[in-house]
Amino acid sequence: MNEIAKSAVDTLFWIDIYRGLSVTFAHIFKEPATINYPFEKGPLSPRFRGEHALRRYPSGEERCIACKLCEAICPAQAITIEAEERSDGSRRTTRYDIDMTKCIYCGFCQEACPVDAIVESIRNGGVQGPNFEYSTEWREELLYNKEKLLNNGDQWEPEIALNIEADHLYR
Ligand code: SF4
Ligand code: SF4
Repeated sequence: MNEIAKSAVDTLFWIDIYRGLSVTFAHIFKEPATINYPFEKGPLSPRFRGEHALRRYPSGEERCIACKLCEAICPAQAITIEAEERSDGSRRTTRYDIDMTKCIYCGFCQEACPVDAIVESIRNGGVQGPNFEYSTEWREELLYNKEKLLNNGDQWEPEIALNIEADHLYR
């Protein structure tokens, strides 16, 4: 009886070894499913919702008219805006903060904005941007102010404009 049990265990053992090795060898010549991030980066959807940015017009003037629709619609209450009237009668923000630790990347702020000022999706078009690589060491670094958001907009304006142009039929 012991011999039969030992033989059965040996047979099962070798069957399992064979199965394991066959799976291993079958994958040796296949294209890897993983990439060597951060040296390789996968494609992003044109609708990817990443880091926020505030845009300007080609003249350099801020697009934002301080209507506060984005602040009102934000379900996470992550946006804080203060505004005042300029000497020329136009209304502009004096403070535009986003607490990125509260943001849930729903995209409502972008959808609500009547002048496409606040955006968060940045088209990559084959060229990878660092817009999804903004992890920080300190929580305070995720409290974005107007200067930071405008800098993002200035940096990514060509990609943002392409993204909005590509998506305008579906909005
Ligand atoms: S993406 Fe959503 S949660 Fe984040 S700031 Fe915009 S509206 Fe608020
Ligand atoms: S970013 Fe757009 S929605 Fe928000 S206050 Fe400015 S103009 Fe209004």
